[in-house]
Amino acid sequence: MVYLDYAGTVPMLPEVIEIMHNAERDFFANASALHTPGHRAMNEVEKTRKLLAKLIGADPEEIIFTSGASEANNTVIRTFEGYEIETSPLEHHSIIEVAKQYRGNKKPKLYSYMLANNETGDILELPKIDRTKFDDSPLLTALNEWGKPLVTDRRKEYLHSDLTQVLGKMPINVKVLGVDYATFSAHKIGGPIGVGALYVKKGVPFKPLIIGGNQEQKRRGGTYNTVGIIGFGKALEVMSVRKSWDVYDNVIRNLRDTLAERILTEVSGSSLNTELARGKSLPNILNVSFLASEGESIQLYLDAEGVVVSTGSACASGDIRPSHVLMAKTGNAEVAHSSVRFSFGPENTMEDVKRVMEVLPRIINLLQNISTIKMEKK
Ligand code: PMP
Repeated sequence: MVYLDYAGTVPMLPEVIEIMHNAERDFFANASALHTPGHRAMNEVEKTRKLLAKLIGADPEEIIFTSGASEANNTVIRTFEGYEIETSPLEHHSIIEVAKQYRGNKKPKLYSYMLANNETGDILELPKIDRTKFDDSPLLTALNEWGKPLVTDRRKEYLHSDLTQVLGKMPINVKVLGVDYATFSAHKIGGPIGVGALYVKKGVPFKPLIIGGNQEQKRRGGTYNTVGIIGFGKALEVMSVRKSWDVYDNVIRNLRDTLAERILTEVSGSSLNTELARGKSLPNILNVSFLASEGESIQLYLDAEGVVVSTGSACASGDIRPSHVLMAKTGNAEVAHSSVRFSFGPENTMEDVKRVMEVLPRIINLLQNISTIKMEKK
């Protein structure tokens, strides 16, 4: 199999599988419990928290573990329920759909802009927010149970960034980025699915999404997913030891760019939806449209040849909507419908690129021949 859906999920690293397997036995206890096995489990949770905090330039208390990036995104948006929320049109559904439902028109205002897009890999500029104006809205003047202000950083504008695709691909520092909230997910770096984290800067508004026990300093109820968090920690450790951002920048970028070049010269009717220049996109994602060919068909034909890619369309009960990201970027439904995402990871080699190019031109040719859309052949 040639796996080119790393932006979807990175296969769990062998080190992660091993440590999680052992953790099921060694750290089974409820991490909130006061007994010794509980303390030992909590110690492991805190190790991952410290490591993530260090890697992103935050304090450990500013990290909240979640069930993934979707929950982290939902949590930030719901904190601003009834308030102004502005998102980029390229956000993940776990931002866009929630914002649509919960935005209002009161200040303070939340901006949610991802730094890099999961479908095209494009790197975006974060908006400049106003950090000088202050407010006394109810969200900012709420008191905790001891009568202390919950929010000490009482600005009119806050910034969230979904950094799910960025972690491991580029060094991250939340202070340098100037974000108040940031989202991460373990399964995009070789950790387990179902674990993520939210960075919440000290003193900014926060409302728990899951209300329950006292876990995560009352910011996220639910028994700690100790084993998953240990797996996340191992993936972070491997990422930092290997300086994965260098591997992505040097090795993986070359695979991606070679595939792009070969597609453009060897596959008729192909056009790139990813800007390849360094700094313009993540090094591992390549989104391509093929004239008169449907993305889903390309995906299925490639799959039959053992080449795994993804498409941006959301297929829901007969309603095939083109990717909102490509629609926002190109404004062209045909381009959006005919797009495929190739996303690379550390296990890929130039052999994989060769294999894609053995089968892709034939598949596109076949689809273009049966298409009702007429096209000029190269
Ligand atoms: N945000 C972005 C940018 C993503 O790429 C993804 C995963 N496709 C998510 C959020 C959702 O992540 P999770 O699966 O951890 O909920």
